[in-house]
Amino acid sequence: MTAAPRGVAILGSTGSIGTTALRVLQRHPERFSVAALTAFSNSALLEEQVRQFHPSFVGIVQNGASTHETWACGAECLVKAVEHPDVSIVLNAVVGAAGLDATLAAVRAGKRVALANKETLVMAGPLVGEACRAGGGEIVPVDSEHSAILQCLAGRRPEDVRRLVLTASGGPFRAWPRERLQTATVADALQHPTWRMGRKITVDSATLANKALEVIEAHFLFGLSYDQIEVVVHPQSVVHSFVEMVDGSVLAQLGVPSMELPVLYALTHPERVHDTGVPPFDPVELSPLTFERVRSADFPALRLGIEAGRRGGAAPAVFNAANEQAVALFLDGRIRFGDIPRGIEAALAALGDADGRTRDALLAADERARRFVREMFAC
Ligand code: NDP
Ligand code: MG
Repeated sequence: MTAAPRGVAILGSTGSIGTTALRVLQRHPERFSVAALTAFSNSALLEEQVRQFHPSFVGIVQNGASTHETWACGAECLVKAVEHPDVSIVLNAVVGAAGLDATLAAVRAGKRVALANKETLVMAGPLVGEACRAGGGEIVPVDSEHSAILQCLAGRRPEDVRRLVLTASGGPFRAWPRERLQTATVADALQHPTWRMGRKITVDSATLANKALEVIEAHFLFGLSYDQIEVVVHPQSVVHSFVEMVDGSVLAQLGVPSMELPVLYALTHPERVHDTGVPPFDPVELSPLTFERVRSADFPALRLGIEAGRRGGAAPAVFNAANEQAVALFLDGRIRFGDIPRGIEAALAALGDADGRTRDALLAADERARRFVREMFAC
């Protein structure tokens, strides 16, 4: 007897990861059904997705002018989607801190969260861990680096692992001189060399704040200390990360730069499936594969994020919120590219020791950090 398809909720179904996930689910109807979809405000695309996939639950945060009587509205719709009885796996592909309550609710309800929304784990790693233990849920990463590490660690003993090396594409400014970086435009920052992603993460890749978020994410997911997590630049984005064992042997996971595979793997882990539609791997076609040191002095967001991770408490949440706010101001044309790490650094200096023990304390620190950055730039 074959099992019934498992119901998947896609939070952020209208985004880059959300639409990728729908393509993946469409290819595997015997395994998965689309049980719930949510968006922020893109009702036109959401409507199209609802017509195509017939989910049991539809939610939109800002409904705008259109009226859909059966759709849930407001920020609470994410948690309602997660708790729907038809949902057994939640793909959290919302961008930013807005995904936190949904992640907590899902793991408390004993469900799997395929987590693209790394900001959730960065701001509240210990709380998410507690909620998993209390409710029996689990987090499986969608991020390609963490998916790679999860695959490399399978079946290893923790004491045999020496360190993780996360790869970073280096973003569009990898080779730009330091002075030019200060005044890079929004259009420059949105030209990512290897990945097509939402605007916020694309800017994060350009500042390397994304890699800082990923180091913190790796710390919480895999339980390694910050001294055991390093970053190397790998412009081709083919080696998704490395795991070095205590004897010096190094494992890596490779693949063409497509998010379809990590999305699918987060849903099926530890199982693997046929017919992924991913193009065949040809190392000659993908060569050469090169590696470089990170220019940490020129991309201070990476160091700032790792320092915030080490500091713990509310510091990672302050880092994340200051970054989200600064990126939004940059995308609005109100601050310069070089102001993003300046805003983060000042917010951490002022608020990094805030209380971070509860969800409410973290959300308060998040709100204060956003206000701090707006006031700093008089926006
Ligand atoms: P997008 O901006 O493309 O999509 C974001 C999605 O979230 C959209 O569906 C959007 O709805 C919805 N959304 C935005 N704000 C809110 C909110 N406040 N409340 C509820 N829903 C909201 O982002 P990506 O798909 O690129 O990224 C999503 C997450 O995945 C991020 O955390 C990112 O870091 C992570 N990630 C992304 C990768 C990628 O390749 N894109 C790779 C690895 C991780 P609407 O369309 O209506 O605005
Ligand atoms: Mg990544």
